[in-house]
Amino acid sequence: MCSDDGLIVDCNPQATKLLGASVQALRGQALAGFVRQPAAAGASAVVGLGLCDGQARVRRGAVERAVDLHLHAVDAAEDRRWMLHLRNKRSQGQAEEKLSHLTNFDSLTGLPNRSLFRDRLGQAMARAERSGQPLALMIIDLDRFKLVNDSLGHEVGDSVLKHVSSTLTQCLRNVDSVVRLVDASPPVTLSHLGGDEFTVILEAIESAEDAALVARRILEGLLVPFRVGKEEIVVSGSIGISMYPTDEVDLDGLVRHAGLAMYRSKSLGRGTYSFFSDDLNAAVSARLRLEGGLRHAIERNEFQLYFQPKANLCTGEVTGVEALLRWDCPGEGVVPPDRFIGVLEDTGMILPVGAWVIRTACAQLGEWDRQGLPPLRMAVNLSARQFHHLHLASMIEDSLREHAIDAQRLEIELTESLLMEDNEATRNMLESFARMGLKVAIDDFGTGHSSLTYLKRFSIDTLKIDRSFVSSLPSDSEDVAITTAVIALGRSMQMKVVAEGVETQAQADLLRKLGCDEMQGYLLARPMPAADLAQWLVPHLRTQANRRRSYGRAGIERPMSLEKLPS
Ligand code: C2E
Ligand code: MG
Ligand code: MG
Repeated sequence: MCSDDGLIVDCNPQATKLLGASVQALRGQALAGFVRQPAAAGASAVVGLGLCDGQARVRRGAVERAVDLHLHAVDAAEDRRWMLHLRNKRSQGQAEEKLSHLTNFDSLTGLPNRSLFRDRLGQAMARAERSGQPLALMIIDLDRFKLVNDSLGHEVGDSVLKHVSSTLTQCLRNVDSVVRLVDASPPVTLSHLGGDEFTVILEAIESAEDAALVARRILEGLLVPFRVGKEEIVVSGSIGISMYPTDEVDLDGLVRHAGLAMYRSKSLGRGTYSFFSDDLNAAVSARLRLEGGLRHAIERNEFQLYFQPKANLCTGEVTGVEALLRWDCPGEGVVPPDRFIGVLEDTGMILPVGAWVIRTACAQLGEWDRQGLPPLRMAVNLSARQFHHLHLASMIEDSLREHAIDAQRLEIELTESLLMEDNEATRNMLESFARMGLKVAIDDFGTGHSSLTYLKRFSIDTLKIDRSFVSSLPSDSEDVAITTAVIALGRSMQMKVVAEGVETQAQADLLRKLGCDEMQGYLLARPMPAADLAQWLVPHLRTQANRRRSYGRAGIERPMSLEKLPS
C-alpha cells in the first residue's frame, strides 16, 4: 500500500519477501527505490507514483526481477492511497510450467503421457517423411498386470509401473549401441499412455531388424525379477511394432497397427514381439466383421439349427438327432460353427445364442411330435461358458416345460476339458441335470485329457468316440485299439457308446463288431434343416416298421445290416 506521493505505507508478508526487507524497514520508504517501470510513460502513469498497470521490475539488493503490476486506488477518508499488486513473473511461469507438465507428463512415472506422445509421434512422422529414414512405433503392454493389481493391490501395481518405467528407460539408454542410428537427435521417445501401456518411438532406424533388437532387449530387461516390499515380482511384456512410412497410414493408423501387432503377441503366448503386417490386418478386420455380424444375427433370425441323425448300429433304428448350429450370414452363405463358436465364446454372446439353441431344439421336438413323428431324442452342444452360467438349469427346465418335452429326450453334450474342473459349480450343475432327468454325453471323447477319474465322479450316460479315431478305421491298428478300449470302457461303466463321423460301411461294420451302440456320420446322413430331416425320416420309419413287423412275426431279433441305408 502506498500513499499518493509514492511512499510505502504497509505491505503483506509476500511483499516483504519480494522486496527483501521487513515491514518496519519498508514503511515510509519511497516505492521508486524498489519498483521501476521504464515503459511507464505519459498520461496513463499515476502522477505521484510514476507507475501504471503492466510489467515492472522489482529490485531486491542487486537482483532485479520482472513482475506484473496492478494498481488499485483506495480512497481513505482524508487522502488517497494505492494498492499495488505485484505478481512474480517467475512464479507465474512456474505455474504455467507446472500446468504444462501436468498436461503432458504422466504423474506416476514422469514420462510423456498420451497427449505429448501423440505430439511427438506426429513430429517424428514428419521427420521420417523428410529424411526418408523409417521410424518404429512400439506398444508395450505388460502381461497379466491386472492380476498384480487385483491380487497385490494398487500400491504394488504403482510400484511395478515405476519399476517398469525405469527398466525401459535403462534399456533405451544408449540405444544407439544397439541400433545403427544415423542422426541421434532425438532418437527415442518413451511414453506412458496410462494403465500398463507404454510406447517407444524409435526414429531414424535402418530396418525393422533394428526395432526387433530393441524389442528383444526390452523383453529381456523386463524379465529380471525385482522386489516390492516382501514380494518378488517378475513381469513380462507383449510388444507390437508398426513402421513408418513402411505402413502407409496416418498417425491413428500407425498406433492402431502397433496395437493389433501387440494383440497378436498376446495371442502368441505373451512375452514376445510382433510386427504389424497386412495379413494381420486382414485377419483382424475379418474377425471384427465376423463379430459385428454375429451381434445382430439373433435379432435378424440368421441362426438356424441343422439336425444330424444317429442310428442304432445293430437295428438301424434312428434313435435321435444332434442339433448343430449354423449361421446364414448375408453375403457369405451358411457359415459352419467352427468359424464362429469361438467368437461367440470370447464375446459372451454364446449365452444368448446357446439359450436360443436350447429353446429352438425343444420347440422343434414339440413340432415333430405334433407332426406325428416317433419321439426322437435331441442332443445339444454346450460350451464351457454356458455350462458355468447360473441360470442354465432353470432355462433348460423352462424350455422343456414350454414345449411339453420329457427331460429324458434331451441330451447335453459336454467336452472332457469342462469336466476336468472338479469344482462345486460343476458338480452342482451335473447334479441338477441328473435331478431333472437330462442325459449327459461326453463329446469328442479321447481328444481331451488323459485322466479318466471324472467318469467315476459324475454320472455320464454316453461317450461319443471322436471322429479322428473313427476316420482311419479299420486300417489303422492303433485307432482300432483305441476304439476297442473306449467301447470296452463305456460298456463296463454302463454307458452308451456312439461313434462320430462314420463315413464308410467298413467303419460301421467294424464298430458293430466291436460292440459300439450307435453311429452318427455322413454314411447315415449329413446334418440338415428340420424339414429335410422329417422327409428323410419317412422311408426309414417305414423300413423300421416293416422290419419290426416281419422279425416280430418270425420271432427273431436279428441285427440289421446298414448296407441299405442311404449314404
Ligand atoms: P460336434 O459336436 O463334435 O459335432 C459333430 C461335427 O462333425 C459336426 O460339425 C458335423 O457336421 C460333423 N460331422 C458329422 N458327421 C461327419 C462325418 O461323417 N464326416 C465329417 N467329416 N464330419 C462329420 P459342425 O456341425 O461343423 O460342428 C462342429 C462343432 O461345433 C461341433 O462338433 C460342436 O462342438 C460345435 N457346435 C455345433 N453346434 C453348436 C452349438 O449349438 N453350441 C455349441 N456350444 N457348440 C456347437
Ligand atoms: Mg456334439
Ligand atoms: Mg464331436
